[in-house]
Amino acid sequence: MTDITFDKSRILFEKASKVIPGGVNSPVRYFQPYPFFVESANGSRLFTNDGNVLIDYCLGYGSVFLGHGNQQIGSEIKSQIDKGNLFCAPTEKETQLAEICSKIIPCAEMVRIMNTGAEATMHSIRLARAFTRKTKIIKFEGGYHGAFDYVLNKAGSGTAEQEYSDGILTESASKTITVPYNDIESLQSVIDNEQNHNDIACIIVEPVMANTGLILPEKDYLNSIRNLTKQNNIVLIFDEVVTGFRLALGGASEFLGIKPDIATFAKTLGNGYPISLIAGRREILLGLAPSGSVYQASTFAGNPISVTAALKTLEILIDEKNTIYPKVARTCDKLVEAVRNMVQDKNIDVIVNSIGSMFQLFFSDKIIRNYYSVKSSNTKLFMDMFRILLTKGVFIPPSPFETCFISTQHNEEDLEKTLDAYETALSKVKNY
Ligand SMILES: *Cc1c(COP(=O)(O)O)cnc(C)c1O
Repeated sequence: MTDITFDKSRILFEKASKVIPGGVNSPVRYFQPYPFFVESANGSRLFTNDGNVLIDYCLGYGSVFLGHGNQQIGSEIKSQIDKGNLFCAPTEKETQLAEICSKIIPCAEMVRIMNTGAEATMHSIRLARAFTRKTKIIKFEGGYHGAFDYVLNKAGSGTAEQEYSDGILTESASKTITVPYNDIESLQSVIDNEQNHNDIACIIVEPVMANTGLILPEKDYLNSIRNLTKQNNIVLIFDEVVTGFRLALGGASEFLGIKPDIATFAKTLGNGYPISLIAGRREILLGLAPSGSVYQASTFAGNPISVTAALKTLEILIDEKNTIYPKVARTCDKLVEAVRNMVQDKNIDVIVNSIGSMFQLFFSDKIIRNYYSVKSSNTKLFMDMFRILLTKGVFIPPSPFETCFISTQHNEEDLEKTLDAYETALSKVKNY
């Protein structure tokens, strides 16, 4: 197959850059020399303005679990549009969604619905501070929880090259302590440090790290965090924005059998429509206004379009969970195993991490277990591979500090084309 090119996208990007900073509305969408522009999407595929077809392993950073343009969700949305799209008064559907979530999410005694992942994690942290009457928070190096002040310290994803974003007060950043993932001694010593002792409100963690490449929790690690938080009156927040409804219907919490105090959800929840939620212990969630004094509010929260999307998404996931989760895991395993065989044949140092329907490849000869192991992998080679894959019609997220995702719509043909593309990419980068 000849390489595809993106000439129209270059022109569109130049135009965009004149009126949109950097030409994109979220920085992770940019890569050198310029991103491609998308006209439409269907199933596992993106259709670019250049007329190219790309097999999509980014999937809205994991959001589009059921594939692009799902017809069942689409037709529910169309009929909701006819009935109106924003009331700012309660609807029955919001209660239905909360009821369903409280059944399937292990920690969910109550649920508050919002719009974005960042909103959910931000208000979870505020809730935890109010509930414990403590001020500091702990997050993990390379953990991403959204683009707001409390959590941009060593935040992975698009900010992987920065300590923290400009414009954040050092007073604010100093209340956030970062520790290495998969290292319980470091966490214990931060909690025991007398400067912090009795002042840690919460620990926020992606139970499976998906924003600094893909990093799995080592045996007993999350259990140990659960025990430490219980012993020290610290609220444990699982940020399940990626893992929720994707690793299992009940997210990583169900998959790994650990119950946090609060969990946050977004991406897969709406299969690409903007919706998020906080689930958790009743006594903590009742802190939210108007039942409590922790202020959280949003005009668009619980809007009928997003809620309709989430209701239909969850209905499909509940009805078909016994086929969907094994199917995506099988597709992922097949792909990962084939790539591992490829690198063995070619004798290149590559590590592939995977779990469920998520995977990532690193150019490294050491196991990838934290932020620093990703940083010390060959990220330049990764970007070379990314660009070759793209010219072969395969789109993975444009950074080793991200994760690749499989949807229920990825089929055998996609897999074959993808493996051909990896074969070409890995053969080429081997000679660099
Ligand atoms: C994407 C992401 C967020 C932020 O969600 P937005 O909807 O982009 O605000 C938070 N946490 C994790 C783990 C994420 O991957």
